[in-house]
Order: sequence, then C-alpha cells, then structure tokens
Amino acid sequence: MDLVVRAPRIPTPGETLLGGNYRTFPGGKGANQAVAAARMLAGEGWVALVGCIGDDPHGQKLRAALEAEGLDLTRLLTREAEQHPTGLALITVADGGENTIVVSPGANASLTAADIEAARTTIEAAGVLLVQLEVPTAAVTAAITIARGAGRAVILNAAPARILPPELIKMVDVLVVNKTEAAIMLAMDPSIDAARLALRLPDLGAPTVILTQGAHGAILAHKGRPRRMPAIPVQAVDTVGAGDAFCGALAACWGPVHAAIRTKSHEEFRLVEEAVKTATVAGAFATTKAGALPSMPRRAEVEELAKKV
Ligand code: ADP
Repeated sequence: MDLVVRAPRIPTPGETLLGGNYRTFPGGKGANQAVAAARMLAGEGWVALVGCIGDDPHGQKLRAALEAEGLDLTRLLTREAEQHPTGLALITVADGGENTIVVSPGANASLTAADIEAARTTIEAAGVLLVQLEVPTAAVTAAITIARGAGRAVILNAAPARILPPELIKMVDVLVVNKTEAAIMLAMDPSIDAARLALRLPDLGAPTVILTQGAHGAILAHKGRPRRMPAIPVQAVDTVGAGDAFCGALAACWGPVHAAIRTKSHEEFRLVEEAVKTATVAGAFATTKAGALPSMPRRAEVEELAKKV
C-alpha cells in the first residue's frame, strides 16, 4: 500500500514540514506494474501477480483492488500480519511533482525461492516475466531461472536498486532502470551524465537496456545500438508510478517483440523502439494523475495520448 502526503517541497534531513492530509492508495511496484500491464492489454491477455501480502486491512484492500483489475491472484500469498505486515511505501509528493519514497517491505521480504517454485506453472504459462526488486534476490533469481528455462522473455526493473550477481543479469532480456538505480548497479557516481551511464549499462549483460529519465524521456540501447526516446510532453502533477506504468506497458507489448528477436526478424529494432515508445507514453500519462496504481493508463488512453504527439 502507498501512504501519500503532499508537501510544499521535499524536506531536508532533520526538517519537519507541514503537509496536507494523507491518502492511502493500493500500490507496490509489483502491483502497479501488473495493473499497468493488464490495463494495457485491455482484456486481450492474461496477467498473474506472484507476491506476498499480510492478513491485515491493507492486505485486504490491496487484494480487492487487484481483483477488481481482473488479475490472476492465485499466487498472491497471504501471511500472518503480526510477523509479515503488508508492504508499505511512505511517499512524500512535493508541489512540483518531485517525490521521496521509503519502502517497508513487510510480507514482500518473506517471499522465498520455494514460494516461486510453487508458482512455476503460472510463470511458465506467461509469455513475459516482469520482475522488480521489492522481493528478496533468491525469489527474483528463482523466477528468472524458471522463465528463462521455459524460453520466456524476462524484463527486470531493478528497483529499488541493489547490486545483483552478474550471472543473474545475463539471464535478463530487458533491464529497465532510472538514473539513481543505474548508478547503484554500476557502482558509479549518480551525478554522472545520463548518456554516460546508459553507455555503461550494457556491460551488466542484458541485450536490451533502458535508462529512464523522467521528463527527459529514456535512453534505449538494444544490442549495443543506443537511441534517445524523447519524453511525451504533459502537465505532470504527480510523478509517482511513472516508472511502473512504463514497465507494465513495456511488458504488455513485449511478447511479439521477443518473438521477433528470437527469430532475428528484420523488424526487430523497429519493434523494440515501438514498444519503448508506447512505454514512454504510458509513463507520461501516469504523471498526469495522482497516486500510483490509480494513475496506470488504460490502452485507449495511451493510444489517445500517442496520437496527440
Ligand atoms: P521512475 O519513476 O522509475 O523514476 P521515471 O521518472 O524515469 O521512472 O519515468 C519513467 C518514464 O515515464 C520516463 O522514461 C518517461 O518516458 C516518462 N515520464 C516520467 N516523468 C515524465 C514527465 N514529467 N513528463 C513526461 N514523461 C515522463
């Protein structure tokens, strides 16, 4: 769940600021991205969420919200909340749209490789696996290994960032990170120019890497060919969830792209760019609405916004 407070600006360390009333929104990277993918597929696909919540009111609210989106939740585990409360993100949104987020993983941290193994049939049944790092590395590794073994496409949104074993990233088809996450994964200074960070990202071992840059769009490098993907100009009111909308939309579009890459189709580069462009439209759309999960765009909204640019 997301607990969101608006404030005139982001507080400096040690400072207490008066903000507005808090609001709670269903959220979490996995939940947001699954909803973004489902809304993008608009009934022409199937999205399952593998994860873990607590048996507390936040967990119940989250499950109900995800059910309402038509997600397959057979592999969304519920743990006893005393020990494993539902994951919570404490979010401050400044008037300019900037944000800070502290995540309390709660039940997410209890997801094990065995839980993932129990979800093997679900993972193998999907064309694309989209994973984030709000769950332990052992769970991430298990999911990627299963999907890879079944020849499925693997998209890793390495957020929140941590340094991962190189063998793991080599099993990933698409790595999506923002600038902060790229700097952590590359152990480089985050003040370094984004283009330089993007140039180094392929060293991590994924054939397709995407560096997202908020209002500056994204830098894509597919098989070593870098390409700037401009942002879609919008009036941003809340940038929380832009990255999730981007990743969910990308995953929803990636099935045919993966097939083109595997068959070395001459359409490969064009299809990769088209999918990333759609993702930038979805990311831009998400900034025009408050909250993370509620701001995930539907396919019709993405198509509409894409037409305007
Ligand atoms: P994260 O939320 O993970 O930090 P970003 O802020 O980089 O991710 O946003 C992901 C994508 O969403 C960007 O690459 C961009 O295409 C789009 N986006 C984000 N913020 C804006 C904005 N203010 N205007 C237009 N597009 C945006």
